[in-house]
Amino acid sequence: MRIALLILAAGSLWAQVAHYSVVLRPDFEKKVLRGIEDVELRDPARASLAGGKNLTITRKPAEGRFEYEAKPGQGFRWLDDGTIITMFDCGAWMVCDASPGYRATLRLEIVVPAAASGMRAIGPGRLTKQYRDSEGEHFVYEVRKAAQSFLFSFAVAKVERSVSGNFEILSVRPPSGEAMAKSAKAYRFFRQKAGIDLPDPHYAQAFLSMRGIGQEAAGMALMSQTYLENLETRDSVELMAHELAHQWWAVLVGIRSWSDFWLNEGITEFMTAAFVEHHQGRAAYDAKIRTLESEMANLRAEGKDRPLHWEKWTDAVGALGPVPYRKGALFLHRLRGEMGEERFWRGIALYTRRHAGKLVDSRDFRVAMEETAGRSLGVLFEEVVYR
Ligand SMILES: [Zn+2]
Repeated sequence: MRIALLILAAGSLWAQVAHYSVVLRPDFEKKVLRGIEDVELRDPARASLAGGKNLTITRKPAEGRFEYEAKPGQGFRWLDDGTIITMFDCGAWMVCDASPGYRATLRLEIVVPAAASGMRAIGPGRLTKQYRDSEGEHFVYEVRKAAQSFLFSFAVAKVERSVSGNFEILSVRPPSGEAMAKSAKAYRFFRQKAGIDLPDPHYAQAFLSMRGIGQEAAGMALMSQTYLENLETRDSVELMAHELAHQWWAVLVGIRSWSDFWLNEGITEFMTAAFVEHHQGRAAYDAKIRTLESEMANLRAEGKDRPLHWEKWTDAVGALGPVPYRKGALFLHRLRGEMGEERFWRGIALYTRRHAGKLVDSRDFRVAMEETAGRSLGVLFEEVVYR
């Protein structure tokens, strides 16, 4: 297993990257991605590009251009049925800075060879061009609104494309109207609670042959095919709602550092519970809160509790884990109780609108909530967020 990874210190010249342009050619026989990447820098005079020790750069003909090969490993899977799935770590398949501290635009062109006919590329942002030539089928995706690089994931899979208004579903079998209708309902709910619409309301959901996945990207989410059936036939809306909520709380409002990962996952988990309440009633919300409480009690018993704002991680994987999700969601549930319905939801909307397109930390959230609470929430934040 080899991971193509380039990590340079935060605040280095990579903070100068304004735009990535990547052309990927998957070789389905050798299971390797061949990439050509151009990097546009904000201040080229200050830049001196270098490769990381695990990235196989095969050619570097000009400053800011890389040719490289990436093999499957952490952050990048190649399944037996040919499906390619990337997860969370852009460094697995492109030369990038994986830290969340800045945003860049992306042009991602994936060339699916003619021999792999029937496979489609699914990328972040919007599909802006698709054409066939002697090489195969070219899919060009563009993230035009700058995004953090962990939101650049893509997949290649044998899926059909279904479109309904702003929603797109890519799945092995065509979806029933149920999945589209529930997605649209969740979208309306989050838009109302956020107090702001997404800059680009287009949203794609890809349901893939790999089990147990759920991952947000810019304007897109990757989930499992088995989940689509649960969404349609068992009204299991949680994963759909969770990934969709991330378009506001992760993509639109981003975290400055992994130390505040709970602002992505805790808010999103809570918003999922709130949508469950809206969709299925208060008893379903209460049941979800009870589940979160018992999961959190187990984590405490295992000695895994930690403050929500947590700086003791060494890499992104260490910053994740279940605590930001469970404890974060329960903290919002508690704030909801302490502040009361009206002030609480006004605070959520204020926080989201004020920081749309910006990067945040725990203090930004606290300031917005205190503003609508009309009082200090310092004791509560000290207890749960910082200690
Ligand atoms: Zn999430």
